[in-house]
Amino acid sequence: MMQQRILILHTGGTIGMEASADGYRPAQDFSTLLAQKLDGCDLPNYELLQLDHLIDSADLCPSHWSQMAKLLADKWEKYDGFVVLHGTDTMAYTASALSFILQEIDKPVIVTGSQIPLSALRTDALNNLLDSLLLAVNPEIKEVCICFDGRLLRGNRSSKVNSTSCDAFDSPNLPWLGEAGVHIQLNHGLLLAGGSPNFRTLTFDSRAVAMLTIFPGMQANMLEQILKQEGVKGLILRNYGVGNVPSHNSALMQALEEAVQGGIVVVSVSQCVAGGVFQNTYASGSVLSRIGVSSGSDMTMEAAFTKLHYLLACGEQAEAIRRKIPLPLRGECC
Ligand code: ASP
Repeated sequence: MMQQRILILHTGGTIGMEASADGYRPAQDFSTLLAQKLDGCDLPNYELLQLDHLIDSADLCPSHWSQMAKLLADKWEKYDGFVVLHGTDTMAYTASALSFILQEIDKPVIVTGSQIPLSALRTDALNNLLDSLLLAVNPEIKEVCICFDGRLLRGNRSSKVNSTSCDAFDSPNLPWLGEAGVHIQLNHGLLLAGGSPNFRTLTFDSRAVAMLTIFPGMQANMLEQILKQEGVKGLILRNYGVGNVPSHNSALMQALEEAVQGGIVVVSVSQCVAGGVFQNTYASGSVLSRIGVSSGSDMTMEAAFTKLHYLLACGEQAEAIRRKIPLPLRGECC
């Protein structure tokens, strides 16, 4: 038996679900099932910790990130690595959020889950779990990753790209950090250097960040309605291509400008899966630079959303956040 120690933090998701009349929902006795599947295997020693309320990750709120980060931070010294079991629907948001909250970590945090429950015969959960447990004791990894279907991905570069296939995750703007095939191989040159963890307790306000997708014919009042909501301090705008907007819609442009002048941090991300925002390529994009919208660079929508939440939770002022958004904090953008 290996001597390293891993903490598995179970938050919910398909991996630990069971069928019910209403469809899959979190099963309560996950620890027995886990023990049945893993006991006797030559694996690192593990301990299981569960959230008090296991969730379908569709029910995730920003406050869950503080809760998860605190549980990991409190146990940091006791374990060699951490595996977070999570639903796939919002896994990329959580992996991104944890990467910002747990900056400068010196151990692996591997987030995983499955498309089919661990209890099912044809499950992808067991492989994801075994790969994650083995990667979680690799001291070369000092960052938050997603491990899924043999891919090791930087957490804050990942997105769920397929809702029905087991290769559900990818990191379109960054090569995989590793691959678990016949052998487990790491892409050493891409791994982040570790630091000395200095954990902070952050409180996230669910209302703080809103998101809006630009679409043909969008009216300014949609944007105005969102920005009127109490507590909104930041907006992720999902724009076309390299960050273009209907710049001839003057009411929409004016509403955006007023929002920025009123202290809202607006971040432009691309609706495209790969590539990113290059705001000054077209006149229909450079208008955003003039208005003071921050470029989300080549960040995923999930990374931009959680980074904005993180910077707001840190108490940064709007102007400082606007400057920091396009700059990498934890390998989330170029
Ligand atoms: N709805 C589930 C969740 O995100 C989907 C999954 O885990 O695959 O919790």
